[in-house]
Amino acid sequence: MQRVIKTMIENFKRKTHCFIQLMEYCRKTLDRPASRSIKRLLGYVLGFLLFYAPFALFHRAAACLLNIESNLTIHSFCLRVPTAHLLDGKIFQLNLPVISLFLLSLSAFFLGPIFCGKLCPAGALTEYLSMLVPEKYKISWADHIPVLHVRYGFFLGFILSSFLGGHLACAYCNFYTFDLLINYIPFGQITAFSSSMLLTLILWILILGVFTKGGRGYCSFFCPVGTLQNIIYILGSRILPIHGRLSIIRTRCNGCGLCLLKCPMNAMSVNDNGIAEQNMHLCILCMNCADKCPSKAIRYTIGKNEGQPDVQKF
Ligand code: SF4
Ligand code: SF4
Repeated sequence: MQRVIKTMIENFKRKTHCFIQLMEYCRKTLDRPASRSIKRLLGYVLGFLLFYAPFALFHRAAACLLNIESNLTIHSFCLRVPTAHLLDGKIFQLNLPVISLFLLSLSAFFLGPIFCGKLCPAGALTEYLSMLVPEKYKISWADHIPVLHVRYGFFLGFILSSFLGGHLACAYCNFYTFDLLINYIPFGQITAFSSSMLLTLILWILILGVFTKGGRGYCSFFCPVGTLQNIIYILGSRILPIHGRLSIIRTRCNGCGLCLLKCPMNAMSVNDNGIAEQNMHLCILCMNCADKCPSKAIRYTIGKNEGQPDVQKF
């Protein structure tokens, strides 16, 4: 009997050891830069399936769970209109866009702006398209324009415009333009394409997209949803004892600057001490920088908030 139990324990130990080794192998494989690039791309595909017609899985699930009516266009999930109503009180109406914005804000508070970096297909589209254009044809706007001044200035104007009866949210919406590009224009429906949408298309795809370093100029300057998430991300990092954020292991960083080159939001810099610093006003937690860092000095951590976060002044 004793021998049987001993054999069973040995077998169990062997199997557990094999299982742990398998898990470690999977973790290492998934942690490889190539796998992470594929995972990132899959995240945007998932974002597309969740939020855009004809799939719109998020809308379907929310409508079913909350027993509310929801059509399957991007308007029923719209994050921009409730953002525009942050100051005039209409944000407290209970509907799917407001609920969606609340969930998004909650995730940004605890985990950071992961929606932008991991799910938003509209932001990803220009980033990926810009990879097709040689670097010498792209402009780095941050070298010529104070990005954060424009970002926060536009955001303020955006939420004040709701008092003036303006419709900035719809007129300059890249989410909707993306919807037009995939669900309307290919099927010959171009009647909704106004002059402001045309301007958005040119700005978003061309000037601030494919011909901008990193391809996310529109995200940096004109996305109110992204700006709101970064504000909430910074707030969470300041007040929560445990928080999800990008961490730079200072003892590992050699100041090579490779992370700067790969950041689509221009959110990395090397400080006077030769150590990389993340700008939390702009970072979207895409983790491109971590993939390129030769010293493995950058990682996403959920844990105790140690020290002051890297919120750069502007
Ligand atoms: S700092 Fe890193 S994680 Fe943040 S936007 Fe830039 S590349 Fe992405
Ligand atoms: S790529 Fe890594 S080692 Fe190089 S500056 Fe960035 S964090 Fe430091």
